[in-house]
Amino acid sequence: MSFFAASRLTAKSQIGIDEPASFRLLQPKSLEEAARMLEEHGAAAVALAGGCDVLEKIKTQWIRPGFVVNLKPVLAKDVAAEKIGAGATVAQVAKSELLPAALRQAAVRVATPQIRNMGTLGGNILQDSRCPYYRGPWHCYRAGGLTCDAVRGYTHEHALFGGERCFTVTPSDTAVALVALAAEAEIFSLREGGVRRVPLSDIFALPSYDITRMHKLKQDELLTSVLLPAKKPGARSSFRKAAMREAWDFALASVAVECVMEGEVCRDVRVVLGAVAPVPWRATRAEEALRGGKLRDRIEDAVRASVEGAEALPHNHYKIGLIKNLVRECLEEVAQAKA
Ligand SMILES: Cc1cc2nc3c(=O)[nH]c(=O)nc-3n(C[C@H](O)[C@H](O)[C@H](O)COP(=O)(O)OP(=O)(O)OC[C@H]3O[C@@H](n4cnc5c(N)ncnc54)[C@H](O)[C@@H]3O)c2cc1C
Ligand code: SF4
Repeated sequence: MSFFAASRLTAKSQIGIDEPASFRLLQPKSLEEAARMLEEHGAAAVALAGGCDVLEKIKTQWIRPGFVVNLKPVLAKDVAAEKIGAGATVAQVAKSELLPAALRQAAVRVATPQIRNMGTLGGNILQDSRCPYYRGPWHCYRAGGLTCDAVRGYTHEHALFGGERCFTVTPSDTAVALVALAAEAEIFSLREGGVRRVPLSDIFALPSYDITRMHKLKQDELLTSVLLPAKKPGARSSFRKAAMREAWDFALASVAVECVMEGEVCRDVRVVLGAVAPVPWRATRAEEALRGGKLRDRIEDAVRASVEGAEALPHNHYKIGLIKNLVRECLEEVAQAKA
């Protein structure tokens, strides 16, 4: 059993802890040094960015890392039209006029102003599952256990697509928008001795890939930047989210759309669903329904197609209706918007 799985088991049996176990805070001076520290200490080390998620886990002793590697001094924080440093705060992203509408709309719906000011874009993209069973005192598959407690309990927040043994959903709002915008991830790898670029959509892990992790980055790898394609003529985007509360709440469902318009015709499109699969989920049938047609005439076809293949669990059928409404709202906004 891994260090983290073992430490979770111990911690989860002690609910109510509000004080961290002792750890060493490591302050790297370069990306390479940070990655080396993480590699050297392996499962005993954790990377810290804004700390919104990591510090909560440490404080409650859900994880008890021996070493915390502070990434803040070494991560880029600049926001430009085609490159955003992973250390930029979610608030910076929400405010930047340089960025596409869908990304700004997603960032401004993240949590609260305080969390947006602390949380980084990289940490938001790479954040862990929010399944209440995994976060609570249960030892499900994702926590190193032998069952999915959600499917035997309440599945209100869980997945319609892509679940396999685990039905958790991607909690990141920005990731959904970024996948719709065809963003790439720039990843620093110690083993590879530099950075590589991959489609952002490729870094997310389905349970069939690794049931204990939400992304595929290795211990010696760091997300350094997010790259956006150059703005295409006619490109318009939109993001919508449904949650129990307007603020301080994760999505029950979200949708991001980017259409490349030529007059009223949708030449190219990406439709991505959030909070309904363990990863940002491309609604490819909806995209097919839209591509090459007059956008306004195809909206209802796309709405129906967006939920094809959905497999509702006992308590999350309502998400099908939510997704359909959000897809319609996004497409109507895009149809009305100016390029
Ligand atoms: C009350 C509450 C409400 C929230 N609501 C929302 C919401 O509505 N929508 C939403 O999207 N999010 C929401 N969040 C999540 C929050 O936005 C994220 O926790 C935050 O953005 C994480 O960013 P961070 O920089 O603080 O990450 P950290 O907590 O520092 O790190 C998160 C994870 O990413 C890893 N990591 C961070 N940066 C890197 C990097 N560059 N390379 C490699 N690994 C890295 C860390 O090791 C850790 O595993 C909420 C959080 C809270 C506490
Ligand atoms: S859905 Fe996944 S994270 Fe939630 S209880 Fe089941 S295995 Fe654990």
